[in-house]
Amino acid sequence: MLLSVVIPVFNEAEVLPLTLQELRRVLGNLGCEWEAVFVNDGSNDLTAEIIGAEARRDRRIKVIHFARNFGHQLAVTAGLDFASGDAVVVMDADLQDPPDLLPQMLGLYNEGYDVVSPQRISRESDSHLKRWTARAFYWIMRKMVDPRLQPQVGDFRLFSRAAVLSIRQFREQHRFMRGLVAWLGLREVVIPFERQPRVAGETKYPFWKMLRFAWTAISSFSAMPLRMAISCGIILTVLGAMYS
Ligand code: UDP
Ligand code: MG
Repeated sequence: MLLSVVIPVFNEAEVLPLTLQELRRVLGNLGCEWEAVFVNDGSNDLTAEIIGAEARRDRRIKVIHFARNFGHQLAVTAGLDFASGDAVVVMDADLQDPPDLLPQMLGLYNEGYDVVSPQRISRESDSHLKRWTARAFYWIMRKMVDPRLQPQVGDFRLFSRAAVLSIRQFREQHRFMRGLVAWLGLREVVIPFERQPRVAGETKYPFWKMLRFAWTAISSFSAMPLRMAISCGIILTVLGAMYS
């Protein structure tokens, strides 16, 4: 049994030494083989040097370097393409997704689930703005895009090999991973967890980037914006014809 952990990283030099230490501690006690696949998403701090050195020392640590910053969703995609585990966990580099949850997630995988989804039961560590926008985001997405989306579940998840092979078949450039996972309808279990504060460094998702993420999520996964634009066009054409 091989467990892969996929970690997208963008300018995370401050937090990486701690993340590596925590990962080694938890993965070392799992009782299975493991690999950690870091996807360096065009960082311009010391991220590349830190992971590069680690990868040279330990063959279980692998790194993909992007030529520029392509964004978190594409970094996760590359990691899932590259990971060779029987199960693959995607997690952030900043320890907001606690590695201590891995044994429980692996246990549920062993029970036969294809997707294990930790669900944030509290967002105390997030700012008011982040909490409010996240709530609005999930509400809109569930009501208007896909009710199968799990609320308060992010990209921190475990996927079975079968799930990874299904996800790999999607090659969209503008993608919303959570939408894909919901749409696939895989055998999923949701477990509660407390999202931790970022241990060091700053969020790489400023407000404008979150807005862009939300827009990609809606427009890549739903025909709703297109339908709205067409409906507006028809209404305006009719009104124009009536009043001209
Ligand atoms: N990240 C990335 N590319 C980006 C932005 C973020 O690879 O363009 C990574 C980042 O290094 C982290 C994860 O994605 O490992 C989540 O980002 P962050 O923690 O800043 O987001 P937040 O938790 O604040 O929403
Ligand atoms: Mg974070």
